[in-house]
Amino acid sequence: GVAGMAVTDSEALAALHRVFGYESFRGEQEAVVDHVIAGGDAVVLMPTGGGKSLCYQIPALVRPGTGVVVSPLIALMQDQVDALRALGVRAGFMNSTQDFDERRTVEAEFLAGELDLLYLAPERLRLDSSLDLLSRGKISVFAIDEAHCVSQWGHDFRPDYLTLSVLGERWPDVPRIALTATATDATHREITERLGMPGARHFVASFDRPNIQYRIVPKADPRKQLLAFLREEHAGDAGIVYCLSRNSVERTAEFLSKNGIEAVPYHAGLDAGTRHAHQARFLREEGLVVVATIAFGMGIDKPDVRFVAHLDLPKSVEGYYQETGRAGRDGLPSTAWMAYGLNDVIQQRKLIQSGEGDEAFRRRANQHLDAMLALCETVRCRRGQLLAYFGQEPSGENCGNCDTCLAPPETWDGTVAAQKVLSTVVRLQRERGQKFGAVQIVDILLGRRTAKVIQFDHDQLSVFGIGEELSEAQWRGVVRQLLAQGLLAVEGDYGTLVLTEASGSVLRREREVPLRKEPEKPVTSRAGGGS
Ligand code: ADP
Ligand code: ZN
Repeated sequence: GVAGMAVTDSEALAALHRVFGYESFRGEQEAVVDHVIAGGDAVVLMPTGGGKSLCYQIPALVRPGTGVVVSPLIALMQDQVDALRALGVRAGFMNSTQDFDERRTVEAEFLAGELDLLYLAPERLRLDSSLDLLSRGKISVFAIDEAHCVSQWGHDFRPDYLTLSVLGERWPDVPRIALTATATDATHREITERLGMPGARHFVASFDRPNIQYRIVPKADPRKQLLAFLREEHAGDAGIVYCLSRNSVERTAEFLSKNGIEAVPYHAGLDAGTRHAHQARFLREEGLVVVATIAFGMGIDKPDVRFVAHLDLPKSVEGYYQETGRAGRDGLPSTAWMAYGLNDVIQQRKLIQSGEGDEAFRRRANQHLDAMLALCETVRCRRGQLLAYFGQEPSGENCGNCDTCLAPPETWDGTVAAQKVLSTVVRLQRERGQKFGAVQIVDILLGRRTAKVIQFDHDQLSVFGIGEELSEAQWRGVVRQLLAQGLLAVEGDYGTLVLTEASGSVLRREREVPLRKEPEKPVTSRAGGGS
């Protein structure tokens, strides 16, 4: 009863009720909150939407002093602070977007002990003036949000995070809580090490998002496929469509709008006003689609995002998980849909090769990509594979809510096909000293006398026309899967194909190559027309 509650309620639970109006803690929240309130350090891994904010907000409210939150999401601080103030929490922020007067006001409030929460951009903590200011006030807890940004090998490294170990050195008595939604075991260890939190207790929530249905389809005509998906399954729903380039963001948003789906673009090339307006519309309106580069979505809290669609391959499983995790925060059925094809693999490999970073960096980037490709090509349950990547046990063999569980893909023995592709690559290189991309290889296999085939006399090769048993789409599928399995590699700016160390074992017939069957006719739009 009500009388009993007042007696047994902890201060934390009381704050949860009084300030946030929530019934009870979720999952690990209570254990984290209790531990931090008692003065312990914590590393918290919780999926996006899992409720990380309360893990530091409640301790900040219960412990005396101000909770200092380090966050890289400068663009969201104003909104976060406004939302907290609306709940009666005394919150403020300090970042580069403020003018002198605004900052002075926040400083004064902090020093007077009038703030429960103070949000800071990590670069602030490089400044002696900021550290001095913090020393003159009373701090209840340090929260380090998006803590994976400290990982140099992660997908979202921010050098300023490396300076955050100073917090533990200067304020050994203030508990620290590091939070992230994306961490493999390795990143996890890096967080503990680099932030100097060896004694921290670790709280790891399940990464499973059972209400999200994972689907990865072969890419044919991506915009039409997307349109069909939206019309058939998500008419009138709010969602996010991710594209790699600004240009394809613009064109996809236009395409959807022309076809009767309300969509707006979002990318770093748009001016701040437009970006802000589109984001605000997304949060406020029902059923708006935002087509965006990955610049969009970090920290966005919209519970009823019904789908997240990828028209291009994410660079890592962490990225994929984080982006798809923006769907279905309200727990209702949602879809993570992606179209993926051979060009994605070639493009990503090229990006890694031509990008900045040393050899070690490239190797890590390729490993990230390999894991992403393995997820795309798997014939097992996608959810199981995702969870295994994050070091977690799936609850069963099949989740029943991903494409591979719903319609198990057929496999076939692709050993001979693989040998045909690899020997074509070998012939070109050995006999002609030439390297070509996938298009030419497939044309040779199919025995097509294209202008380029004639130009290079490739119809004279012994492998010319030896692959007429498969269609062009099927051959592209074979090449894609060989690339994904590391049996073939991409070289240089033109995406030419070369052998890898592992290719030899296939050519020597020492290993079999099971492949995933390509659908005869990739699903395209009912509205698609043509063929
Ligand atoms: P994260 O930072 O882990 O992505 P948030 O802290 O933004 O997640 O929380 C996600 C959503 O869940 C928010 O809308 C939040 O208000 C809600 N939420 C979190 N904890 C609870 C709870 N104990 N009870 C009800 N709603 C909660
Ligand atoms: Zn499954």
